[in-house]
Amino acid sequence: MVYEQISEQAEIKEYTYIVIGGGIAGVTCAEHLYILQPEAEILVITATSLIKAVTNILPLTKTLDSFDVEERPAVELETQCPNVTVMKDTVIQLDAEKQCIYTSTGRSFSYERLCICTGASPKLIAENNPYVVWIRDTESARQFQSRINKAKRIIIAGNGGIATEMVHEVTGVEILWVIRDKHMTANYIDAGAAEFLRSELDKEKIESTTPVKRRRYIVDEVQDGSPLLGGALGPDWHSGLELKGSMHRKVTLESEVEISKILEPDEVKQFGKTITKLNSDEGKNKELTTMRLWTQARQMGSYAAKCMWSSLTNQEIYMDFCFELFSHATKFFGHKVILLGLFNGQGVEGRYEVLLRYTKGMEYIKCVMVDGRMQGAVLIGETDLEETFENLILNQMDLSEFGDDLLNPDVDIEDYFD
Ligand SMILES: Cc1cc2nc3c(=O)[nH]c(=O)nc-3n(C[C@H](O)[C@H](O)[C@H](O)COP(=O)(O)OP(=O)(O)OC[C@H]3O[C@@H](n4cnc5c(N)ncnc54)[C@H](O)[C@@H]3O)c2cc1C
Repeated sequence: MVYEQISEQAEIKEYTYIVIGGGIAGVTCAEHLYILQPEAEILVITATSLIKAVTNILPLTKTLDSFDVEERPAVELETQCPNVTVMKDTVIQLDAEKQCIYTSTGRSFSYERLCICTGASPKLIAENNPYVVWIRDTESARQFQSRINKAKRIIIAGNGGIATEMVHEVTGVEILWVIRDKHMTANYIDAGAAEFLRSELDKEKIESTTPVKRRRYIVDEVQDGSPLLGGALGPDWHSGLELKGSMHRKVTLESEVEISKILEPDEVKQFGKTITKLNSDEGKNKELTTMRLWTQARQMGSYAAKCMWSSLTNQEIYMDFCFELFSHATKFFGHKVILLGLFNGQGVEGRYEVLLRYTKGMEYIKCVMVDGRMQGAVLIGETDLEETFENLILNQMDLSEFGDDLLNPDVDIEDYFD
């Protein structure tokens, strides 16, 4: 629809705040605006009929929370925050000068402050290629399931958390895992931790007998033929899905390569392998300080609400404590993984030492130290050290006198530093 046509026809309804997106970032933003300014009129516009809600928040450490994410009917947000109206529609145009947005159903709304929380889109290797599938929302996960049932051999391209989980979750299929980096899961962990997890690659996943605590996702309807507008999935994206082929599982890892061309099945016989080796620098480990995960979506939604409210009401706000330290908890190959601070030595290259404790199949503990002070840590397994290490990173205590004993299993550092 052309913008000029819409602006002539539509009646413009005014709001103090408009938030576009009903994912975690958008919903958190609206909830915080309600707390900050209960008399303001707030509109949340989202392309899906369900919105995301954060529940069961359990603080693990000062900066690390564990929480569940559920999909809920929009009306629940309206009941909880009476000054919030949720509307199912798709924003197609923004006029920043007029402070106005326009939707696919021909409606228009003006705002004093606007927050855009529309999430990410998958970076596709090839668009509209029948051999390429991707995972972002419930609909794409279902499509993946329907394809995997008949598959004998698949290529998984990517080296982040989703690819790592996928390699773990898919069974009964031959998997070629293609990564640009030197080692697996490089977006999160270093080569040592990758080696710890690599021995798990060929193992079949052990089915958990404990019930899934998080609610399983309900399928969104495909929006206007475009599943891209559904909210992004989370750690349970595979729960309830049968990701099983009819063959034996075998995983081959191809590192420092990139897919250069996708051929038809009969062309493959002619060309053989179709992945390209990268130049040595191209796949090297990336520097990482902000990851785009649930925790960050929640933190950014909350901070955006404070910034909008502050600029409208001239109130002073302070930087949130969560920005002091990066922290993230996840699971890879069934192991608990905690990342703290400069966990990969980001920003302190060439200046840091690493302290390491490694017990095959059980735990991997890495501390990044600069001048005897802890800057970051990777904890894999049930180490129970996250709170102690978070404190040591935040208070920057000089730990030189402990040397390697910091990770000595016979020294109970948890008690020592508490
Ligand atoms: C398969 C998968 C697994 C993941 N696993 C984890 C994990 O284990 N741990 C973790 O922390 N994170 C995980 N993530 C990442 C996590 O899901 C995202 O970081 C988080 O959901 C981002 O939230 P968001 O609110 O920014 O965006 P989204 O959840 O994507 O929400 C965007 C919202 O904007 C709406 N929207 C988009 N365009 C428009 C428009 N034009 N008009 C109106 N509305 C619009 C959408 O309908 C949606 O409601 C995973 C992601 C995926 C895809």
